[in-house]
Amino acid sequence: MAVPKSKITRSKRGMRRAHDALVSSNPNECANCGELKRPHHVCGACGHYGDNEVVSMVEEIDLDEDAA
Ligand SMILES: [Zn+2]
Repeated sequence: MAVPKSKITRSKRGMRRAHDALVSSNPNECANCGELKRPHHVCGACGHYGDNEVVSMVEEIDLDEDAA
């Protein structure tokens, strides 16, 4: 097992962690429904990407249990 040769000082540990911060997302408004969405991703609310509906959004699929 690899063993550290010497103690990492508070300073060096802090220097390493200086780049560990999480960055906030940068949401865009959907051109179709105005919902906030991730850039370059299909809108999760209406299924549109640009001008096209690429995912059909069905409210709920009603499965008839007797039909099976
Ligand atoms: Zn949308």
